[in-house]
Amino acid sequence: MLLLAAVLASALQGTLQNASPVPSCIGAYEQGAVLACRAAPRSQVTLSDASGFSQTLRADAAGRFVLGFSRNAAANMVLRVCTAPGACRRQRLHIAPHAYRVERIDGLPPGKVSRFTAEQLAQIRKSSARKKAAFAKQVAARGYLDGFSRPVAGARISGVYGSQRVLNGKPKRPHMGIDFAVPAGTPIHAPAGGVVTLADPDLYFEGGTVFLDHGQGLVSVFMHMSAIAVHDGERVAKGAVLGRVGATGRATGPHLHWSLKWRNRYYVNPESALSLDMERLR
Ligand SMILES: [Zn+2]
Repeated sequence: MLLLAAVLASALQGTLQNASPVPSCIGAYEQGAVLACRAAPRSQVTLSDASGFSQTLRADAAGRFVLGFSRNAAANMVLRVCTAPGACRRQRLHIAPHAYRVERIDGLPPGKVSRFTAEQLAQIRKSSARKKAAFAKQVAARGYLDGFSRPVAGARISGVYGSQRVLNGKPKRPHMGIDFAVPAGTPIHAPAGGVVTLADPDLYFEGGTVFLDHGQGLVSVFMHMSAIAVHDGERVAKGAVLGRVGATGRATGPHLHWSLKWRNRYYVNPESALSLDMERLR
């Protein structure tokens, strides 16, 4: 009886394995990282953790999908891949911590907290609504398969993903993108192909802003642009000029801020996208 149970269990295991193989992914299992993966065509994939976080997505016809881990992703996560109801496999993921830069500035005069006028608040709300609507768009794109390149050439990186300022002991919102220190007017190139889902010359904090959807839930955000060369809905190829670097919005000087959002849930580290060798996925 025990033997029969063991045989049955092993047969069942075999079926499950055939029905839904473990996905193969490229990239680092690290906080903030983005991974490109492949499983059975049109698999239903769910990433979750013990805190209740859960995100479900569908792999494409070739089984490809993109995973993203948040800045503070849990050390233990679970990936569930189903090819049919009941034909699922669970895989435990161990996510390595990422050491973030923390900058503490003390002794600042109190009362420097910015207060907004009613007019500014109205502008902020309008900008926020525009971004929300653009992030909620779902477009068909597969530009992420191009692999990612830097949007500006030869630039010094002046701000990294996840860094945090602590002013007078108060933690401020972490910086969720990369800053490239380049002169105003420098052309900005699409890091990978995609569809433009927002092209706004004047958001309150971000200034001239472009959203570029690369498919599989990966959206690039470019801020503080002085000129925009694309329009909403436009399909652009990798390397196409999106516009020019500026200091619009609430920027202290000319630079390009580039963020990468995953599934409209959280920002991931653009550096991790730059290091993905998509040739290994195809
Ligand atoms: Zn920035």
